[in-house]
Amino acid sequence: MGLRQKLIVKPGSRIRLKDIDASFHGDYKSEDHAKEDLAANSKRLTELQRDMYGEKKHSLLIVLQGIDAAGKDGTCWHVLSAMNPQGTAVTGFKQPTPEESAHDFLWRVHPHVPGLGQVAVFNRSHYEDVLVVRVHDLVPKSVWSGRYELINDFEKMLTAHNVTILKFFLYISPEEQLERFRQRLDDPTRQWKISDADYKERSFWDKYSDAYEDMLEKCSTKDAPWYVIPSNHKWFRNLAVSHIVRKSLEDLNMKLPQPTVDLDQIRKEYHSAEANKIK
Ligand code: AMP
Ligand code: MG
Repeated sequence: MGLRQKLIVKPGSRIRLKDIDASFHGDYKSEDHAKEDLAANSKRLTELQRDMYGEKKHSLLIVLQGIDAAGKDGTCWHVLSAMNPQGTAVTGFKQPTPEESAHDFLWRVHPHVPGLGQVAVFNRSHYEDVLVVRVHDLVPKSVWSGRYELINDFEKMLTAHNVTILKFFLYISPEEQLERFRQRLDDPTRQWKISDADYKERSFWDKYSDAYEDMLEKCSTKDAPWYVIPSNHKWFRNLAVSHIVRKSLEDLNMKLPQPTVDLDQIRKEYHSAEANKIK
């Protein structure tokens, strides 16, 4: 079974996060053994994004969710560093501003959906509205529980407009999270990332797990699937995500457009020895 089939959440199925091995690394013995495939995926991503940008018939939306320190920033960096920045964008979703809060929860999201030819990454997303919002009772249950269906409808509309939606839930163990927080304490270049809130959120681990499990069950659809990415090993996380993005883009069978001009004519007119004589 390929990685894509192994990590996808089958529509309607219930994943128990406690049963998932966050340190899973497939058939790869170590990072060294994965290097070649990582490089090959990156090379293909460069080509596929070029084709998407040229063809302008599809777009790609990558949604990243995961607990603090799960590696959302690192995944975004890894995937997009293989692509031409001109055709890509990243949006991070933070606590809503007063203006955003005054609108429906999808209002702030829709303008960041990639247009045809574009790749967009959501670092957090509309799913926060069934995650942090649920865990902290920011709206009543009657409100957040209706959002799964609204999200599915929204995503269905996007896929009908040729947006390929790939949703990655980066899963780390609580021990790995604490270790990553500890490493930040000792790293002057990353101390700025530390916040009290991150430690406080940790105490809601079980409530977050329930919210993640519901999100995965209710919103993994045929056209906009969720993938659970075991992320204790950063190299495996990058490998799994780049593999799934690569395979999904290859399925689109994108073709660069045919030239709109007569190439022979252009060659003759502008590039022949005759044409290049300075008069
Ligand atoms: P970070 O991604 O670490 O910069 O943190 C952004 C914070 O904004 C996280 O704590 C999110 O849970 C929070 N956040 C994102 N979207 C929402 C939302 N819709 N409602 C409340 N908090 C949110
Ligand atoms: Mg944070």
